[in-house]
Amino acid sequence: MVQHYQAIGKDKLVLELIEKYKFDESEHSIIKLWYKMIKLIALRNLYSFEKVIELVPELLEMSRRIEWGSSNNNTVKSGVMLELGKTLSILIQMDGGKNQLAIDTCLELYDEIIEVYEKNIIHDIDHYHGALGNKLMLLKKQGKSNSINIVDSIHEVLKKKLYVGNLQGVANAYSMLATHFLNEKDYKQAIAYSKKDIVLSREYGSYLDLVKPLLNLSIIYLECRQISQAKKVAREALQFAEKVKNSELEDRIKHHLMRIDEEAKLINSEGGYIGKNAICPCNSNGENKKLYVECCGEADYDYEELKNVLASPELFHYTDLIRNDDVSNINFDNLKSYLKPLDEKEVRVSWLEIVSKGAYQEIYELADMASLNLISAKQLLKDFVHPDLDPEAEAVIIKETSISLSICILSVNSQL
Ligand SMILES: [Zn+2]
Repeated sequence: MVQHYQAIGKDKLVLELIEKYKFDESEHSIIKLWYKMIKLIALRNLYSFEKVIELVPELLEMSRRIEWGSSNNNTVKSGVMLELGKTLSILIQMDGGKNQLAIDTCLELYDEIIEVYEKNIIHDIDHYHGALGNKLMLLKKQGKSNSINIVDSIHEVLKKKLYVGNLQGVANAYSMLATHFLNEKDYKQAIAYSKKDIVLSREYGSYLDLVKPLLNLSIIYLECRQISQAKKVAREALQFAEKVKNSELEDRIKHHLMRIDEEAKLINSEGGYIGKNAICPCNSNGENKKLYVECCGEADYDYEELKNVLASPELFHYTDLIRNDDVSNINFDNLKSYLKPLDEKEVRVSWLEIVSKGAYQEIYELADMASLNLISAKQLLKDFVHPDLDPEAEAVIIKETSISLSICILSVNSQL
């Protein structure tokens, strides 16, 4: 119950429930530890950092006393360690990154989780990914890891998360990338990753999960002088914060909204441009400053469909096609847009290759080894639309077309 309330962002309620809970002296220490962790997360979500600071040493001590052993204990222990690490990371940042003891403790926590996972002592892949990603971000903030390393490493974590279908974890990795690129003033990447984060959080996260990427995007917009957009997404973030009744978060967003107004006034008084006419503030163009809309604003479109967020969209169309039981829906115009139209005797087929440039994609045409399968599939489909075809022959053709297309997808997958 408590965990459910936490998942939907009702942190005040979580705290009330925990306060009511009477710990039995004989209670297993792992249950106490678990409750304290939930309390820590709730306090952190509510920005009650004074109480967070009080709770951290106690939780550290408690988690250290529990040995790695039974799988239940292990899951709670690594979960607590990860939450402690996240909390310490925030406290370190709030303190200007100078508290070396906190930094060392935090790194120790992450390293231990990584080590026990790699030694097969724990099996919680989410905890492992979390520790990897958070460790990288901490090192980055400490200036101990270069930019390229960070992005590559987060992408590695991202791939693993995608592989096990941990979409909330994927959203988390996008969030880390968005923050990283915002710090680098690479707004194009920052916008794209924030938007991906938002799409996934809308689908799989809680209201609270949505507030962070929306606020992040609003900050990016503000830096890019996209005032009305910045306000729009901040107001949306505010609505979600209100839904989960997180007044501290509401205050933060209101403060941010005020900052947007002040910034807009300031720009106006200096005779600067906002919105469409704003100059892109990124550092990609040196002296030749471009307009935002022609620069980082290029990544500012909506990722309405989830499949556009996660993978090369053209592959999905084939799987959709094969899964589609109602063959009358097969649309040849649709097919043509994914396959380059061929002359009768042409053997080579071009595929679109979507090359991910970080957050956004560039599209290239790619000569494909699967051309024979494609031609046969295309031929079969062409025969299939003949109106006089009897149902049995039709069924055979559909089946063979599907097989051809499946083979084609397999060959494409192996090439990408
Ligand atoms: Zn730019």
